[in-house]
Amino acid sequence: MYISKHREDITRFLENKGGRVAFIPTMGALHDGHVSLVRMAREKVDIVVCSIFVNPTQFDNPEDLENYPRPIADDMAILASEDCDVLYLPSVEDIYPEGQENLQVFDLGYLDEILEGEYRDGHYQGVANVVDRLLNIVDPDFLILGAKDYQQVMVISKMKTDLGHEVEILVAPTMRTRSGLAQSSRNRRLSDKEKHNASAIYRELYRMQNIENRQVPFAEVQRNMVEKLRKAGFGPIDYVALADADTLEILADFDESRKMIILVAAYMGDIRLIDNMLLNPSNPSH
Ligand code: AMP
Repeated sequence: MYISKHREDITRFLENKGGRVAFIPTMGALHDGHVSLVRMAREKVDIVVCSIFVNPTQFDNPEDLENYPRPIADDMAILASEDCDVLYLPSVEDIYPEGQENLQVFDLGYLDEILEGEYRDGHYQGVANVVDRLLNIVDPDFLILGAKDYQQVMVISKMKTDLGHEVEILVAPTMRTRSGLAQSSRNRRLSDKEKHNASAIYRELYRMQNIENRQVPFAEVQRNMVEKLRKAGFGPIDYVALADADTLEILADFDESRKMIILVAAYMGDIRLIDNMLLNPSNPSH
C-alpha cells in the first residue's frame, strides 16, 4: 500500500499508475462499515484509494474534534489487509494550505438548513469543502459513500453536480452490529451497556418498515419513538424526522406514494449518534 501525507505525491502516484480509481474518504477509526466500502471499491476498479483525515472544518464542537478517535496504526493494518492500494494521510495544512478561514461557501440549498444542517452549524460546508478538495487531488472515477450518512450523500451529490466533478457516486448500505447498532467510529466511546441500549434506534426504525405500523399519524409514531429512546437511556434527541428519500423534503405524515425515510439523531451519554432507514425500499413504483 502506497502511503503519503502529501497531495503532490498522491496525484503523481495515481497519474503514473493509470487505471480506474475508486476513492473512499474517511476520518479513520475504521470499522466494518468502512471495510464494506473498501470491498465495494475493490470489486469495481483496479486502484482503491482511501484517505484518513479528521477534518476540522466540519466539527462544530471542539471537544468532539479533540476526542475523535485516531488509532492510525490499526487503521493502516486494516487497509493493508483489505488490499487498499493508496492511503492519503494529509495534515491540516496539506488540505487547507491557505488556512481555515475564508473558505469557499457552497450553495447547499435547504440541505444545509434541515436535520444535521440545522443541528450542526457549518458542518456540511466543512464536508463539501473537504470532499471538493479531496476529489481535486485524487480525481477518482468512483466516490464510495455510506448510506448511514444519508444527508451527507445528498450534500456531496449536489456539490458534485454544481461543481461539475466527473465522478460517479456509489452508496453502500449501513453496516450494523449484531444487535442492529449502526457501526460508527464514535461507538468506540460507548460502554458495552450503552452500545446495547443504543440499538433501540435500530429496533424502532426497523419496525417502521412494516406498513402495518404506518397506519397511524407520523406525529404519534414520532412521540412513541422519542419515548422509547428515552426509556432506552438516550439523552437529548435532536430529531426523529420523516422525509422524502429522494429530496429529503420533510414530511408531516406518511405518504405511501413516495419513497420515505426516517432519520434520527440522539445522544447516548455525550456521544451523538445518527441513523436512518428507508421505509418502503421495495415499493415497486420506485
Ligand atoms: P467517516 O469516517 O465516519 O467520515 O465515514 C467515512 C465513510 O464511511 C462515509 O461515507 C460514511 O457514510 C461511511 N460509513 C460510516 N459508517 C458506516 C456504516 N456503519 N456502514 C456503511 N458506511 C459507513
